[in-house]
Amino acid sequence: MRFAYVIGLDIGGTKIEGILARAAAGSSMPKVVKKVRMPTDAAAGRKAVICNIAAVIASLYGYGRESIAGFRLSGIGIGTAGFLKGGRLEMVPNIPCLMGVRFRDVLSRQLLEWEIAAPLFIENDSICFALAESMFGAARGFRNVVGVIVGTGIGGGLVLEGRVYRGRDGGAGHIGHMTIDPSGPKCGCGSKGHFESWCSGRYIAQRYMAAGGRIEEPGPEKIFHSKEAVAKKVMKETYEKFGIGFASIISAFNPDIIVLGGGVSNLPREFYRNIGMAAKKHANPALAKNVKIVKNRLGDSAGVFGAAALAIKNCYSYSSASS
Ligand SMILES: [Zn+2]
Repeated sequence: MRFAYVIGLDIGGTKIEGILARAAAGSSMPKVVKKVRMPTDAAAGRKAVICNIAAVIASLYGYGRESIAGFRLSGIGIGTAGFLKGGRLEMVPNIPCLMGVRFRDVLSRQLLEWEIAAPLFIENDSICFALAESMFGAARGFRNVVGVIVGTGIGGGLVLEGRVYRGRDGGAGHIGHMTIDPSGPKCGCGSKGHFESWCSGRYIAQRYMAAGGRIEEPGPEKIFHSKEAVAKKVMKETYEKFGIGFASIISAFNPDIIVLGGGVSNLPREFYRNIGMAAKKHANPALAKNVKIVKNRLGDSAGVFGAAALAIKNCYSYSSASS
């Protein structure tokens, strides 16, 4: 197969982004042929959300059929919060109406009704991020990659020995819920002092406000750049907790590289220097010595590229196995 056409979708709480991409064998960056973006409309309920997801796929598929001679869709990859357990979606806090939905079945049925048939791959969005960065981005060429998305929450995805590590249900890498220091703030999941409830953007801001910070609408960037003593104290504590979190990741997986995504990853180099130092302080020295902690390279596109990569990986491993 010279080229394969695949669709990649990133389903977020507010918007669905999709690409139709043309991929060649090997790990060169797929070429985006068409992009579509649509509101998720999570408040309108599961039927509406599924319909919107299917509509994005149909729109990309329709474009391919109309504009590309001999068009054939090789696969559809989808990245979403949560993971499929026994066929049902679990842990999707950003789109609660999808909780418990037999996502693959329901979506396949809708697509078949519209005569769109292609293998469907559904994976956690942090896994998609890690896969995209390991194939096309900052972690290209490394075999053991941990992707850490630090936004309003903290998510993680693992690519170990060059392969996605899914765990039993596809829920491996939920590192946001590692306990860092149980004396810390209550996490969205109900437990206390998790990585997420210490270091995600929302919780950094909460700690800052609780400590008496004065910046209006504080976010990690404003707090990082502030000269206030309280802001400096909160950031210092944040580096320390990042260090503890990364030390655990380093001990558990002995990665080549940890790639950061999400809003917090856009902080300047000094941030990376500080969390890197804190990680080395807390980790086993032999394991921490050569690990790199870096910013992502694909930015917001990592989600759709990672989703597309699920399908690309499948069609090329399939074609080489069957040829
Ligand atoms: Zn938690």
